[in-house]
Amino acid sequence: MSSPVFDYAPAPESRAVVDIAPSYGLFIGGAMRDPVDGGGFLSISPSTEEVLTEVAEAGPADVDAAVIAARTAYAKTWSKMPGRERGKYLFRLARLIQERARELAVLETLDNGKPIRETRDVDVPLAAAHFFYHAGWADKLAFAGLGANPRPHGVAGQVIPWNFPLLMLAWKVAPALATGNTVVLKPAETTPLTALAFAELCQQADLPAGVVNIVTGAGETGRLLVEHPDVDKVAFTGSTEVGRLIARAVAGTPKKATLELGGKAANIVFDDAPIDQAVEGIVRGVFFNQGHVCCAGTRLLVQESVVEEVIASLKRRLGTLRLGDPMDKNTDIGAINSAIQLERIQTMSDIGEAEGATRWSPACTLPERGYWFPPTVFTNVAQTHRIAREEIFGPVLSVLTFRTPDEALAKANNTPFGLSAGVWTEKGSRILWMAQRLRAGVVWANTFNHFDPASPFGGYKESGYGREGGRHGLSAYLVPDETVGGGA
Ligand code: NAD
Repeated sequence: MSSPVFDYAPAPESRAVVDIAPSYGLFIGGAMRDPVDGGGFLSISPSTEEVLTEVAEAGPADVDAAVIAARTAYAKTWSKMPGRERGKYLFRLARLIQERARELAVLETLDNGKPIRETRDVDVPLAAAHFFYHAGWADKLAFAGLGANPRPHGVAGQVIPWNFPLLMLAWKVAPALATGNTVVLKPAETTPLTALAFAELCQQADLPAGVVNIVTGAGETGRLLVEHPDVDKVAFTGSTEVGRLIARAVAGTPKKATLELGGKAANIVFDDAPIDQAVEGIVRGVFFNQGHVCCAGTRLLVQESVVEEVIASLKRRLGTLRLGDPMDKNTDIGAINSAIQLERIQTMSDIGEAEGATRWSPACTLPERGYWFPPTVFTNVAQTHRIAREEIFGPVLSVLTFRTPDEALAKANNTPFGLSAGVWTEKGSRILWMAQRLRAGVVWANTFNHFDPASPFGGYKESGYGREGGRHGLSAYLVPDETVGGGA
């Protein structure tokens, strides 16, 4: 007699909690306004290809108006306000994110394609946590290790990517406001909606006009913002390619810049690791958020003696992941964010096969509409393969092997990037030995992809420079007080 097969009943989140307007303008000086010299573009839901709304594209005069609004707010109100007062606004914004958490989670899932389980349990709570954390710092900057009276830079121009739209906004806006800077932020062109919802939260919080300004648009709008002569501080998260352009543009100017760029992280599994936990960590490391994670553990390094066991267990686990409607609360893998990104993932995977690696995906049916790619594992990967060297930014894992800790370390560090790494072993001494030698900004031990606002995040080499989060992150938004008695 065959045993009954149980399946998950659909558990869709309701879309009724969001109210998407047919079109959106720019948030400048505390109010929404139409672009003066820009145009407009459509925001599409990647899981259905449905047009969600039309969004304004800011041109030069719009970016200029936003920077002027930020400068005025900086000079007249924000830089003069005591830290404890600024902190109250940040607390208010944090609470508003919590109050409207469900709406923000649904909006993010519709606009980005990521599963509601992730927006609900990760993106939105962490965004609120960043505001809470930095609210606490606003009146304690004298204790940040930058002297008794560290000063803000002035106007921060911030450009963010599409993989964690609201969370990246929080990483940028919260420390800037806590330290007394004002902001012009440009969200990514494929995911502007939660940033526009955040503009409403700023109004609801009675944030003084011009302290936060949001200009939507694509790369050209971003370029206009970072190259604007009255921007004092540039904060960018995105690709290494664009990071290079920005580094060139700010070189030789008085502007300060932090760049959070790409990655190709090694997730290293030693033979004494608890294999089941490690497999969970591998899945979390590379298939979380469809692999659209800069610090994703996309290069799995497994000690040779356990590679068969790890791969068999990984394949079993991947067979249980559910791919499909991101609004369903049971979905593990959502849609790829855009047609362009899907094409890049397909191309890189085809290259992997052509270069001789062995490709595997679990049996899964891809929805007919929208942009989809199955979880994919490549074995027999060599260090020279492009899938082992270049960032794919999708649900694609490359597996390599090693015999000794020295070999693991050499292979892990053999990359132009240096954002994160993972180590799985029962041995504490080995964790410390590896962590000291890995050239990566974040090293996770027996876990992967855990984030906390108090923990600094950032990279080495082509992964960029500067840190976000924690006390280290504050220093990117402050000029140290060098006077006698000051200094760290
Ligand atoms: P992208 O660099 O193409 O775009 C990022 C942002 O920059 C977008 O808002 C875009 O409109 C804007 N932009 C494009 N050209 C610009 C220019 N010339 N001047 C100024 N702004 C410009 O990257 P993406 O495809 O949106 O995001 C994916 C990349 O981001 C991946 O490489 C990923 O690793 C990286 N990322 C890094 C981190 C991190 O913290 N290190 C976090 C998330 C994503």
